[in-house]
Amino acid sequence: MNIGILALQGAFAAHQRVLTDLGASVTLVRGVEDVDGLDGIVLPGGESTTMSMLLDSSGIAAPLRERVRNGFPVFGTCAGLILLAEKIIDGRADQQQLGGLAITARRNGYGRQIDSFEASITICEIENTFAMNGVFIRAPRIEEATGDVEVLGTVNGDVVLVRQGNILGATFHPELSDDHRVHEMFLKMVSRYHNDLEQAQEVRS
Ligand code: GLN
Repeated sequence: MNIGILALQGAFAAHQRVLTDLGASVTLVRGVEDVDGLDGIVLPGGESTTMSMLLDSSGIAAPLRERVRNGFPVFGTCAGLILLAEKIIDGRADQQQLGGLAITARRNGYGRQIDSFEASITICEIENTFAMNGVFIRAPRIEEATGDVEVLGTVNGDVVLVRQGNILGATFHPELSDDHRVHEMFLKMVSRYHNDLEQAQEVRS
């Protein structure tokens, strides 16, 4: 599996380590030519306003938005989740969204850098419930999620991990924990997506 990690800015190196540990091959996505041939892509944490500007100037925004719209697997963490949110509160007026996740996210919704925290997240996926430590760094807060969005993880009643179709979004930094189960969840989504595509192609031919 070849997983792209958007590497324009932010916390991409830790994602690279986790995905490599899990046996995936990784492409750091820095230009539009890196988007082809990927099986899925990770949008890391960082600064969503800067990342949105760089997505635009690099030309990656348009093909990526198109892929996300067509069901391509994408995993956004923290700033990455903000980029995928259909609505943002406290964003910059000119902040461009990739969209795809029917949530409202408030930037820095838990306060400033000093209010960063760790908390135990309860994760519920079909047939699989577990707790894992989550690192929240100037995290966005999900203020609303529509019915199309599956809630997979919560902390004290706050939604922190969501999935909609092939989009996975975390307000925290799973790449900074020793627990790699959220990344495993994403890799399963990627292989399911590609198996389904292959089956559809076989039926057609
Ligand atoms: N506060 C940052 C933003 O708005 C996100 C922080 C993070 O990714 N750790 O983009």
